Amino acid sequence: MSLINQSLPRFAVLQLSGCAGCEVSLLNANEWVEKYQLVYMPLVVSTHTVPEDTEILLVSGGVRNDEDVYNLRRAVKIVDRVIAVGTCAISGGVANLGDRDEVREMFMAQANRHHLPHLLPKSRPIDAFVDVDLYLPGCPPTPELFMGALTGPENFQASSIVCQECGRKKLKDMRPKHLLGFQQGEVLPDICLINQGYLCVGSSTRGGCRAICTRPGHPCVGCRGPSDAYIEKESSVWFDRVQQVFERLTDIPPQEIYDALHSPQLSLFLFQFADYMGNGGPARSKEKVL
Ligand code: SF4
Ligand code: SF4
Repeated sequence: MSLINQSLPRFAVLQLSGCAGCEVSLLNANEWVEKYQLVYMPLVVSTHTVPEDTEILLVSGGVRNDEDVYNLRRAVKIVDRVIAVGTCAISGGVANLGDRDEVREMFMAQANRHHLPHLLPKSRPIDAFVDVDLYLPGCPPTPELFMGALTGPENFQASSIVCQECGRKKLKDMRPKHLLGFQQGEVLPDICLINQGYLCVGSSTRGGCRAICTRPGHPCVGCRGPSDAYIEKESSVWFDRVQQVFERLTDIPPQEIYDALHSPQLSLFLFQFADYMGNGGPARSKEKVL
């Protein structure tokens, strides 16, 4: 499927705070492919900002932080038409539900207690409450991983880490001095993203996704969780290992790598690694993780 045709109307998808489910729904459709040109969507089109000649802006996700406000205001100045897509853009969505006073009041009201669930102070993983037979990590898991979980782990073959599924070569003589950040600049094919200055954590992330992000050039952010070698270890062990890989392949100052690994950009997935050790729930054994 080609997303490039210069004569077609150009549209962008600005993702604010949300789960990317709307983007996946759009990508699963093919009705628009011959009629519109997708010029920006961080999930798949790595232009750094919405291009100046964009005509239509689809906005998904809610406004949860000041970067969302900035990106939204900047993008709407460029385009002719703005379309709010989905529940999160229109009303904040699930992430906003517990923040809304009227919703909390409704859930807490005596009259509703017979009919509505009580809100807990925090959301928790399910194994804080019940035993789990198999964990299927991924955000989202690929169709192949779903099939592996359904048909049984014994029928699913995967490499232990993402690097082994990636195919990019790690070079000893291409040593960046600083990190580039996410999705900035050109990405060379075939060469490890670490050699190119990108913060890729595929070296300690469990395989099975077939390196769906790194092969086209997006650094792995660790959504599949820790590989078997780290699953029953403190997250400091895992962090140290990633740091060592960067020190072996780059001349980036260790503090710069440390700060990047402990940054908000990676927090969604990297801080979940602690859950495997038992963080309010049981420790998760590697035999139970696909
Ligand atoms: S570090 Fe990332 S880019 Fe490099 S080989 Fe591993 S998964 Fe691929
Ligand atoms: S490459 Fe990394 S971030 Fe992408 S799906 Fe695989 S584990 Fe998740």
